[in-house]
Amino acid sequence: MTASTPAPTLAVVGGGQLARMMAQPAIALGLPLRLLAEAEGVSAAQVIPDHVVGDHRDLETLRRVTAGCPVVTFDHEHVPTEHLHALEADGVAVRPGPRALVHAQDKGVMRAALERLGLPSPRHRLVTAPEEVADFGFPCVLKTTRGGYDGKGVWVVRDLDGCAEAFAAAEAAGVEVLAEELVDFRRELSALVARSPSGQAAAYPVVASTQVDGICHEVVAPAPDLDPDLSARAQRIALELAGALDVTGILAVELFETTDGRVLVNELAMRPHNTGHWTQDGAETSQFEQHLRAVLDLPLGSPAPRARWTVMVNILGAPEDPERGEVGRLWDGYPHALARDPRLRVHLYGKDLRPGRKVGHVNAYGDDLEDCLERARHAAAWFRGDLGDESE
Ligand code: ADP
Repeated sequence: MTASTPAPTLAVVGGGQLARMMAQPAIALGLPLRLLAEAEGVSAAQVIPDHVVGDHRDLETLRRVTAGCPVVTFDHEHVPTEHLHALEADGVAVRPGPRALVHAQDKGVMRAALERLGLPSPRHRLVTAPEEVADFGFPCVLKTTRGGYDGKGVWVVRDLDGCAEAFAAAEAAGVEVLAEELVDFRRELSALVARSPSGQAAAYPVVASTQVDGICHEVVAPAPDLDPDLSARAQRIALELAGALDVTGILAVELFETTDGRVLVNELAMRPHNTGHWTQDGAETSQFEQHLRAVLDLPLGSPAPRARWTVMVNILGAPEDPERGEVGRLWDGYPHALARDPRLRVHLYGKDLRPGRKVGHVNAYGDDLEDCLERARHAAAWFRGDLGDESE
């Protein structure tokens, strides 16, 4: 008889909801996780008992977390590149690796790579002063090259005065400013792929996402009425990028579908992504399990959808409104939400409600898109507190 090899422990940096949702398939796979959490009690630390509390910008802390772990992966993209190189030098497999990850950390580097690969981007230029923006042409979009998320670090500007905020923010953060053409888009798409170190890849159906103020609100899988050629093109772009940049794990490619029928790459994420949450209930292999398989170089699972349609709607804390006082319900929302829709799938992140904060999401799948939209939107609005008790 041969002794069974013990499962390796996978180190995960960052204690947000993405790490929390990796824990679910890790349990099923019998895979131990060790977490670096930014504070005691954060979303993933609630469900991963083997955690260290510390700062992901501190190399010694990273070494403590990865000690004895053959592989490290991430909940976010904020670990300094030099620390990732140091961990690699220690013999830890960093997945995705620093050479890939920099394309998700730095929008200037990402745009340059797309150009090199001949992949479609909005017209763009690194700019150092408002006069250069004027030369690039108004209206346009200014972005800080690093540190932006959920629409923070993105400004639509129409004149010289409008540029001040972006340059001030970039200077304060010690980063650069990227100018991009203001794309006239029909909608935003996302092409999600997974790639393993040995080069196996899998592509999920291309989805449509709705963003409000730069924050993802809703995802429909697959993107309704998407031209099959454009869909294949989006998937090919994502697969090509995953290969060319040597990505391991999930790569999410956010794209604009332009009004004249093209796709342009907006940005990249190299971790499970909000536009892939639908896969938890709507695909044969969720993006979280796929990410674990990919970073551990296990064979990938099927990315095929389980239903004709899946709709994901985020549960966001309602905006501050002193007249309404505290709004939103999480645990208290279950009796109505679950009784109204026995097929609804709810995912809460163990976070307190705060204005604008993503605290969970719901998935509804089925044969009828309108029905899925109604069910998922109703449930999210209910948890958010936008529907009164009379809707019970
Ligand atoms: P973040 O890092 O915050 O996700 P993004 O680069 O994705 O920043 O931009 C946030 C949102 O701003 C996008 O989802 C899109 O709605 C809008 N946006 C970004 N770039 C452009 C552009 N070049 N043209 C038009 N809208 C844009």
